[in-house]
Amino acid sequence: GPILAIESSCDETACAILSAEGEVLAEKVISQEAHAAFGGVVPEIAARAHLALLPDLARKTVEASGLALHDLGAVAASTGPGLIGGLIVGANFGKGLAMALGKPFIAVNHIEAHALSARLPGVSKKNISFPFLLLLVSGGHCQCLAVEGVGDYRRLGGTIDDAAGEAFDKVAKMLGLGWPGGPQLEALAKEGNPAAFAFPRPLKGRAGCDFSFSGLKTALARQIEPYGNTALPRSVAADLSASFQQAVADVIEDRVRHAFAMMEPPPTTLVAAGGVAANGVLRASLTRIAAEHGVPFVAPPLRLCTDNAVMVGWAALEVCREARRLGLPMPDDRAVRPRPRWPLSDMRERFAMESE
Ligand code: ATP
Ligand code: MG
Ligand code: FE
Repeated sequence: GPILAIESSCDETACAILSAEGEVLAEKVISQEAHAAFGGVVPEIAARAHLALLPDLARKTVEASGLALHDLGAVAASTGPGLIGGLIVGANFGKGLAMALGKPFIAVNHIEAHALSARLPGVSKKNISFPFLLLLVSGGHCQCLAVEGVGDYRRLGGTIDDAAGEAFDKVAKMLGLGWPGGPQLEALAKEGNPAAFAFPRPLKGRAGCDFSFSGLKTALARQIEPYGNTALPRSVAADLSASFQQAVADVIEDRVRHAFAMMEPPPTTLVAAGGVAANGVLRASLTRIAAEHGVPFVAPPLRLCTDNAVMVGWAALEVCREARRLGLPMPDDRAVRPRPRWPLSDMRERFAMESE
């Protein structure tokens, strides 16, 4: 039967209902606005907001689907990794509802949900088969994953300091732009010259595919210093934005090239997910790398790139389908506790795969 999915790991409160085949019957997202005044997500505020918003959002999502509660075949929720307060709210709401309906609860790993989102029917013209290369770039994550199957993920590298979106947000703040800063920085960069400032390309050319953005942030801070408390001229802010954005795209391009080289067999597709995947300059770089390797580049539409419940429901369906394929019992994860950290390597246990 259809599945109700819940997302509450960060600052999006979201619900979605998918048919057993993965058709989206209803979806609703509330991006919490209370955090903007603080220039970043405040965990305690997020948890309270999820608690206040979720019951009504779930009811409205069910209404919008045209289904009744008893039509649901399962309930799923992001159960980690993420901000623990929000995870507790979403997972316990999901478990309670599942128990009341006498249906299974499926605990979804939030990163796994990002990883599988591109396989949602309709996202790509051709079905994306395994293995594929995923670049996950959001406010909280920056990593490359070899997605070799459902439950079978290999981390190729990740950031050693800031996430890409975090770097965009911090730099945007230095430039006096609002939060979240990525979209505003990209808009301002259109007026600037990407070659105006020679920013460093951290880790470029280095073996592996780790990322680092903090040096880039420091280099930008140094350029702003001379202005002290006086406002940056718009043209300077635009040049700084364009040069910073170019440096980030160059670094990611280099790291993703390395990630390609680390996959054997080679990936069928390059997939990008996370809010930063909305960035046009980055998309152009990724399109180029994919073309060089003779594979398609797929970035799900923005509403599926940022945190959402559709991907959570889809990941739960993929997990159920894989269990069926392997002749394993349907998962029921009522005993799985929400956890702030939940490495993807743990997902192998579900299918009794040997750990690497
Ligand atoms: P999580 O990391 O837990 O998945 P998040 O809320 O931190 O969740 P997302 O919602 O996926 O991340 O994405 C938000 C991030 O994406 C912010 O850091 C934002 O600045 C960045 N972002 C959004 N659009 C753009 C853009 N056009 N260019 C650069 N960065 C962008
Ligand atoms: Mg978000
Ligand atoms: Fe996310």
